[in-house]
Formats: sequence, C-alpha cells, structure tokens
Amino acid sequence: MDIEQINQWVDDPLRPDPEETENRFFQDIRHVPDQIPYNQLRQIRFPVGRANQLRDLVEEFGIEILAYYIPFHFHSPERPWGIYLRGEGIAHVRQRIMQIAELDGHNFQNPEIPTNVAIDILLLHELRHHAIEVAFTRVELQNGTRHEYQHYIREKRNHNDLHNHTEAICNANVAKHHFKTDWQLPGIISPPNVIVSLDWNNYVREFMLGQPAGYNDFERFTGMSSRRVLESLQLPRGFRLDLAQIREEFSSHSKLGTLNRVVPIRPA
Ligand SMILES: [Zn+2]
Repeated sequence: MDIEQINQWVDDPLRPDPEETENRFFQDIRHVPDQIPYNQLRQIRFPVGRANQLRDLVEEFGIEILAYYIPFHFHSPERPWGIYLRGEGIAHVRQRIMQIAELDGHNFQNPEIPTNVAIDILLLHELRHHAIEVAFTRVELQNGTRHEYQHYIREKRNHNDLHNHTEAICNANVAKHHFKTDWQLPGIISPPNVIVSLDWNNYVREFMLGQPAGYNDFERFTGMSSRRVLESLQLPRGFRLDLAQIREEFSSHSKLGTLNRVVPIRPA
C-alpha cells in the first residue's frame, strides 16, 4: 500500500477506540509530537539516565510502554497515526542492551552505536504492528468490507492467545533483522582500513527473552512462513482473496525501508 491509499483511511477513519488509542502509558503525551524522517533520528541526542525505573514496567507490560503504534484506521487529529517513539524508551533499551553486551566485555564510550540499535529494535517491533494493519486492510480492499482490522483489534483485546501471538510475531520481526555495527576494542587502535564489526543479535535476543509472556515467545515465529504467521493472526481466508499480494505487502511493510516512504515516526 502506498501513502495515497492509506490517506483514504486517514480522511475517513473509524471512530477511535478509547482503550486502544488512549493507551494509559501515553496519556501524558498532551501534544501531537512532530514527525521526523527515519534518517534524521540519528541526529537526535537522547538523554542518558532515567531508564532504570522502566525496567520493571517493561518486564510486566512489554515494549508498548517504550514505543507505540497508532493505526491509520483509528487516526484522529489529536492522535495521528504512526509510530510513537519515547526518548525514555530508547534510553531504556539502549541501557539494557549495553548492560547485556558489557557482560561480554564490550564497553561503549560513545553511546551512538547502541542508541541506533535501540531505535531499530523499537521501530521493527512497531513496524510489524503496522504490517499487520496493512494485511487486514488489503483483505478489506479485496473483499469490499471495512471491519476486518477492527474485528482483529477486538479479538486481540479479548483473547490472550491472539494478543500473545501478535506480540511474539512483532518481536520475531526484530529477531530476524541483522543487527551489525562498527565496533572497536577499547584501547586498541586498529590499522586505518580495518573495520571491526559487532553482531548484536544475541544481545537483542536476550533483551527480548526478558520481556513478558507472548513477547518472549518470538522464536517459534522467526522461521515460520508468512502464510502461517498470518494464519496465527486469524487473517480471514477465502477463495476470493489474493493471498500472494497480502503476503508480499505484509513482508515489505515490516522492513525499515517502509519508514521513509510510508510510516510517520513521532518522537515523544
Ligand atoms: Zn507490540
């Protein structure tokens, strides 16, 4: 789906569901945060500290207290659709993955690298929530209906299984990404042309295993085909549906590249 197609929903949204959009952790965001392009997020300096107090909350509630996706189905001028990224959330994830990496002897004088990894962890999780909305929207377009996504949201709220599958599937999108950054051993000056790279995936995995039920169950979905993933989300089936198109959009909207073309990011 492109931005013009999504704007048709934005122009004619369903009534926002208070429980969904007025998430209690976001009530303190009183204004509409400015939108910022993905590549400019690298230029924001996120404060260090204040992150430890979130640890218990993340272990209890998961990643949604750090970042949040507002669907275009429930767009409103007061709370426009997109990915909301909290500075405190980024600081928390950064601190956790740095602590985990430090046990392996890594020491980061410059927080830039772990900050970028933390941002991508949060974005990839929320992007999958977006891709799920796109998949249901495509079913609506193919069937000429308007309530498939809303139905999914209600089922997710009322059934723990669907809620847990959804969060595991969103974390599987994080686990499948290859987190590789530049890195140098502290105190060692490498010859000019040598770039030492660091693979973060095990640290990212450990961070997600510390999250609550559902969230920490991502590994059963990482190797699963998108057909089976969509079945786990209870996407409607029917002989009239073009499932190949739905699967292809589900995959492409799960990738970071979608952020520059389609999904607004709002640092809050
Ligand atoms: Zn989530």
